[in-house]
Amino acid sequence: MSSTVTIRNVQVILTQPGKSRLVIVKISTSEPGLYGIGCATFTQRIHAVQAAIEKHLKPFLIGRDVDRIEEIWQMSMVHGYWRNGPVLNNAISGVDQALWDIKGKRAGMPVYQLLGGKSREAAAVYVHADGRDPQEVEENARRFMEQGYQFIRVQMGGYGGKKIGRAKPDNAPDGNYFDPRAYSRHMIKMIEHVRAQLGDEIELVHDIHERLHPIDAVQFAKDVEPFKLFFLEDALAPEDIGWFQRIRQQSATPLAMGELFNNPHEWQRLISERLIDFIRMHISQIGGITPARNAAIFANMFGIRTAWHGPSDTSPVGHAANLHLDLWAPNFGVQEWYCPPEIDYEMFPGLPQVRDGYLYPNELPGLGIDIDEKLAAQYPCEDIVEQWTQTRLPDGSPVRP
Ligand code: MG
Repeated sequence: MSSTVTIRNVQVILTQPGKSRLVIVKISTSEPGLYGIGCATFTQRIHAVQAAIEKHLKPFLIGRDVDRIEEIWQMSMVHGYWRNGPVLNNAISGVDQALWDIKGKRAGMPVYQLLGGKSREAAAVYVHADGRDPQEVEENARRFMEQGYQFIRVQMGGYGGKKIGRAKPDNAPDGNYFDPRAYSRHMIKMIEHVRAQLGDEIELVHDIHERLHPIDAVQFAKDVEPFKLFFLEDALAPEDIGWFQRIRQQSATPLAMGELFNNPHEWQRLISERLIDFIRMHISQIGGITPARNAAIFANMFGIRTAWHGPSDTSPVGHAANLHLDLWAPNFGVQEWYCPPEIDYEMFPGLPQVRDGYLYPNELPGLGIDIDEKLAAQYPCEDIVEQWTQTRLPDGSPVRP
């Protein structure tokens, strides 16, 4: 190989083409025209990630050999001494993904080739059907089925169900109220309805979004068992993972966890004791492709599949990274997909496309995706105090969103 190519600049691009604020890292190199991009999106804390990259990572990275992805990842993770956490991991992910993009461009190969090559031609995806009542959820799921989707997540009233069974106390503050007990009752009825109406062939997913008390999650997994979910997602909060064994002992509902984890070691026991069935890491949240590849290999040794987190607060660049891992991983399960608006395809040329429920790569070298920086600049991020995450129980007490 020719002489060493080094990192010349590390640039942070903030943009908001849709509802999510996105953080993209662009690394330019000593080779004219050669650059890579990566996803560092932590949509609720974009400025913290930007500062971590510009003030802390960038000075450390300038002049380093772009080929040394592993060494750069390992040293980026420890050279602040205190490590992990969503801000720092997202910052490292943006760099890590951009370096994989560069390595692919240098090799003239898509990133999935560098991981070991394709296990499949395309990745089956699941999409989100919601509705105000079981009939509306069914109708929206049918619309996706008509488009060829074979995996559908069914929710009713978003996370938590929104319907509050009990009265709020006087002077209860504003917020996103929900009643966990009412949620359980309504969701089981909705899933029963959807399964009865749509038949056995369609694969269904449901996301509890860590909104139940642990013992109620145990009950939910048992109650939903007859309806044969493809998986039940985030039945427990990261703080309650000690309860997974209880769910496992009492039902065969497949379990998926956990987009909220930061450190891959948080999965270690869940995987090695076979307490879950799908790992659902948010790739940028754990630090990029490098740790995701390792976690997928570890999970594969225990018969556990991947289902990387992929809603709209994963950037299009992050979705491209997900797809490369999906195409390679022998233990791929399914990929969450967000049905991008047209503006995302304009701003991010190369964003993968779905046909008949499968997400296809474009075969370009690297991640196969770019960013139109002029267009991105026309969509600046809006600084708001996030509302949907201000979640409360019926008595007004704050809980996890
Ligand atoms: Mg989720």
